[in-house]
Amino acid sequence: MSWAFETEPEFQSKLDWIEEFVREEIEPLDLARGADGLDNRAFRRRVDELKQEVKDRDLWACHLGPELGGKGYGQLKLALMNEILGRTPSAPRIFGAQAPDTGNMEILAHYGTEEQKKKWLEPLLAGEIYSAYSMTEPHAGADPTMFSTRAVRDGDEWVINGEKWFTSNGAFATILVVMAVTNPDVDPHDGTSMFIVPRKTPGVNIVRNVGTGTEPLGRGGHAYIRYEDVRVPAENLLGQEGKAFVIAQTRLSGGRIHHAMRSVATLQRCLDMMCERALSRETKGELLANKQMVQERIADTWTDVQMFRLLVLQTAWKIDRYRDYLKVRKDIAAVKARLPGVLVDVVYRAMHLHGALGVSNEMPFGRMWAAAPTMGIADGPTEVHKVTVAQQVLRDYKPHEGLWPTQHIPTRRELAVEKVGAWLEAEVGNT
Ligand SMILES: Cc1cc2nc3c(=O)[nH]c(=O)nc-3n(C[C@H](O)[C@H](O)[C@H](O)COP(=O)(O)OP(=O)(O)OC[C@H]3O[C@@H](n4cnc5c(N)ncnc54)[C@H](O)[C@@H]3O)c2cc1C
Repeated sequence: MSWAFETEPEFQSKLDWIEEFVREEIEPLDLARGADGLDNRAFRRRVDELKQEVKDRDLWACHLGPELGGKGYGQLKLALMNEILGRTPSAPRIFGAQAPDTGNMEILAHYGTEEQKKKWLEPLLAGEIYSAYSMTEPHAGADPTMFSTRAVRDGDEWVINGEKWFTSNGAFATILVVMAVTNPDVDPHDGTSMFIVPRKTPGVNIVRNVGTGTEPLGRGGHAYIRYEDVRVPAENLLGQEGKAFVIAQTRLSGGRIHHAMRSVATLQRCLDMMCERALSRETKGELLANKQMVQERIADTWTDVQMFRLLVLQTAWKIDRYRDYLKVRKDIAAVKARLPGVLVDVVYRAMHLHGALGVSNEMPFGRMWAAAPTMGIADGPTEVHKVTVAQQVLRDYKPHEGLWPTQHIPTRRELAVEKVGAWLEAEVGNT
């Protein structure tokens, strides 16, 4: 039996250190960042210092295998770490565990040539450069067979033309991993390839940055990019020609579960804030905590957080155990499909309990709330993941024979009587 729902003491002490480091060093830095007059360069310098502290503690990118410069902790330990790192925006970056770099590291490690690894994976792992993943196009996202960005071979080069948008970090990344059609005459699953494009290559034109819900127009971290006659050397093809769909799956599976791990931090924070508020605020002569409807919401929230967290942890455990994302596809899709719903429910309850303060911009709920629909779109819409879950679940079943389902009681009783009836009659005769 190995169903141990507890953390070994040695790793718990690392989590304790991470918890204190995030609380004392990173959260104050993120909070101060928005303050007037704070110098952005000073912020980046401090981030670099904190990264060094994490490296000195041997906790840098530690979910990666030792061959990639990590500790090989795997996804379960990363999940426990991400429950803490997800509390504040800069923490994943300071621990070498931020999207979209983690996914890009994974595909460079899996599919990159030795030269590509040396040139891009090593500095990415060291946190010296940033990367972006450029797949979604303005006219097509959930259905990648509709992408139209083209890469055409011209001698020793590929020439890329097309438009991509929502390329997170695309405006400042050193490299862009770009998905493009290389053979439009075959099924897109065999005619689409992946390329590494240095952002400063001529023809990589950033049209504008796009943000989500609460960000001002024109600001945000997701680039709308026009690739215009972008020439990259033939050796910038990542993996085999025509294999972009397989590469994308490797990348997206990890990314999806990492978002969920970090979101557990948001859920837990909401529960903490709810409980604190319920025990602090009085109305009609008693604490909110004594009102039954408030108690119901606290109970529902605690249960929702526990259920979702356990699903995430079990999925992470399965990834470590099977070491094959395809075998955990159903679980990852289920986590991804459930995430926006649980965020909506939990954030709404916590926000509502705080009254006007809750909906004001003086509490973090507005931002958390905006994250819920975003999580239902990023890395593929909820519907697509639900279809995956259903298809995978149905694989383990088959139709019943004849008119009645296998659990039809009269049919089952008939079979039961056939099986044990004679024995029962004999037993009755003996008494
Ligand atoms: C914060 C954020 C970050 C992102 N980062 C990146 C990035 O770094 N790189 C990148 O390439 N992309 C990125 N994306 C894009 C993301 O992957 C796409 O938005 C996503 O795949 C959905 O594509 P779409 O926006 O074109 O929506 P559409 O494909 O137009 O889907 C819209 C809606 O149609 C419905 N729908 C679609 N398909 C189905 C179906 N099969 N069954 C039923 N209903 C369906 C759903 O309601 C869905 O929400 C990011 C998106 C967000 C929000």
